[in-house]
Amino acid sequence: MKAAQLFGKEDLRISDIPKPAIGAGDVLLQIKASAICGTDVRMLKNGHKAASESTPLTLGHEISGVIAEVGSAVRVYKKGDRVAVAPNLGCGVCDLCVSGNTHMCRSSEALGVTIAGAFAEYMVIPEAAVRQGNICIIGGNTSFEEAALAEPFSCVYNAFELYGVNPGDCVVIIGAGPIGLMHAKLAKMAGAGKIIINDLNTDRLAECRAIDPAFKTMDGNNFEENLMKETGGKGADVVITACPAPSAQQAALRIAAVFGRINFFGGLPQGKSEVALDTNEIHYKQLTITGMTRQSLRQYRTCLSLIEQGLVSVKDLISTRSALEDLEAAINRSARGEGLKNMIVF
Ligand SMILES: [Zn+2]
Ligand SMILES: [Zn+2]
Repeated sequence: MKAAQLFGKEDLRISDIPKPAIGAGDVLLQIKASAICGTDVRMLKNGHKAASESTPLTLGHEISGVIAEVGSAVRVYKKGDRVAVAPNLGCGVCDLCVSGNTHMCRSSEALGVTIAGAFAEYMVIPEAAVRQGNICIIGGNTSFEEAALAEPFSCVYNAFELYGVNPGDCVVIIGAGPIGLMHAKLAKMAGAGKIIINDLNTDRLAECRAIDPAFKTMDGNNFEENLMKETGGKGADVVITACPAPSAQQAALRIAAVFGRINFFGGLPQGKSEVALDTNEIHYKQLTITGMTRQSLRQYRTCLSLIEQGLVSVKDLISTRSALEDLEAAINRSARGEGLKNMIVF
């Protein structure tokens, strides 16, 4: 079978490798769609400790497909099931795992990040992931492409649960990529009064307005002044930094309203994460600032269900569909910020 393996920094190869054999507790998945995300870009550009010349790693953690084979001890799942698979798995026995936060386990692993992933014709869902509940049956008319997007969408949902959107809230999202748009879509579903997306790239802002004319956009010109004018001097109830920019975190504190909730969604590049913040903004406006990483299985399944019920559409976030052979070109398009979600389809 064909698999896109990372051998090191900027060294991605389409390899011909044997179709993997499965153990009694494992499931073999035939991939139908897997989406490219910022993690794939970073792993290609910077390399990763799990990928080397002697231990190449198949990337791809936004996963959907058809079950091709189940091990003799697997119950519940059967050959032919259409499924989406959450990538993160924990040890299963620590306090965090037992509380349902398997994605925060200190010894967590992730399909496509530390274990072979979905940029391949087939992948093994290991017993630990099968038993933990990572495999989710795709319901209704949901396509494989939409189901694969339950992964990034549920990262966004994780943050959404932390910042909360009340009916009528003004929600500001800094960063007009696919993640920013997912925040905007959830905010709309939750009844936000105003949804404002800010980005320096005006082409991306135009794309946002094309996806939903209800989304207001603001470019980099006098953004903070314009935002304060737009909100009658109050500022935003919710601010999300959906970009890896320290300046966005600084701006978020200034444009947040009294009692504002801020989520630092985008991590910062290594070496740039010490940021000078005006903490009196936090103090005197009584702000709440949260972080986030990955998603719990509950959040993953909730998002798959939101997609299935048509409560949030993700189809319009898919810009390009490519064959596995063209993965590197597609990752490079994502790296340049071209298109929203670039998918590999089989
Ligand atoms: Zn991702
Ligand atoms: Zn654990």
